[in-house]
Amino acid sequence: MIDLRSDTVTKPTEAMRKAAYEAEVGDDVYGEDSTVNELEETVADLLGKEAALFVPSGTQGNQIAILTHCSPGNEIILQEDSHIFLYEGAAASIFAGVQTRTMKGERGAICPEELVSAIRKDDIHFPETGLICLENTHNKAGGAVIPIENMMVIAQIAREHHIPIHLDGARLFNAAAASGIGVAKYAQLTDTVQICLSKGLGAPVGSVIAGSKVFIDKARKWRKRLGGGMRQAGILAAPGLVALRDNADRLSEDHDNAKLLADGLAEIDGIEIINRVETNIVLADVQGTGMTADAYVQLLKEQQVLANSFGPHSVRFVTHYDVGKGAIKKALSIAASLTKQPN
Ligand SMILES: *Cc1c(COP(=O)(O)O)cnc(C)c1O
Repeated sequence: MIDLRSDTVTKPTEAMRKAAYEAEVGDDVYGEDSTVNELEETVADLLGKEAALFVPSGTQGNQIAILTHCSPGNEIILQEDSHIFLYEGAAASIFAGVQTRTMKGERGAICPEELVSAIRKDDIHFPETGLICLENTHNKAGGAVIPIENMMVIAQIAREHHIPIHLDGARLFNAAAASGIGVAKYAQLTDTVQICLSKGLGAPVGSVIAGSKVFIDKARKWRKRLGGGMRQAGILAAPGLVALRDNADRLSEDHDNAKLLADGLAEIDGIEIINRVETNIVLADVQGTGMTADAYVQLLKEQQVLANSFGPHSVRFVTHYDVGKGAIKKALSIAASLTKQPN
């Protein structure tokens, strides 16, 4: 199988398994797991934040950030195709009791003028705007890098209105690899950040949220309330440290492979590439093949290539370290050989 469904499907490397085996552990709810502490300090340093917190998933990290920043009845501003809005099961309204206000956005980037007009004035009729959420890279926009200039303008607006910003940086390291702008430069423009260790970085489990010491102290309590307080979690944190050490600097290989894949797919009759491929995500429109995305994905699967249906006619391919250049070429020759099956 050539599995291009997501960068979450990577299997831990030998070095990660060895690190898990050898990890020094303790009870992390007591703050006594030295490997978790090392991971949290490492990520805080990388992102230029005071403190960080290891959490089981990106979704929990984002939700803890919303719970910590907001009060029930607040409104949060986010892009209409963001992960928090589309793919987290309305958790923000269920847990934090906040209402969402969505912005259109250009390749995932929120328009500053639209943002300004969405920020609530002090009025008895209105909720308070409690948080602005950004996502970089932007998944639904095809791994688009949100330009740092856009984030700078938004940070300025947020500062003027005393509204915090949370960055869903599940793939922030991909943004950094593609733009050459370090992760701390992006993080500096936001109050809090969530990064996934289990996406392109390839660790088996986990995310880290980072922010001020005061924020992380409160977030730690929310993590406990949500049942995310883990015990000898160093077993999970150790592969995360290896992921940061070994894999952050190789993400551009995934980006090169995504470009190779996109260029090859574009030459196949009936397939058009939808996104400007900047990172590790390729979105292909397959309508010209006469197939729906579901049918196309099924046909690919029969030939041992896995991808995700991402809309009625769009298919998402994600590159990662378990799929090398050779496998990409093989997937392309399989895709080129596919034709619509008679009904
Ligand atoms: C995957 C992802 C998440 C959630 O991470 P999980 O670990 O799957 O919960 C959040 N935001 C973005 C942009 C993602 O791609």
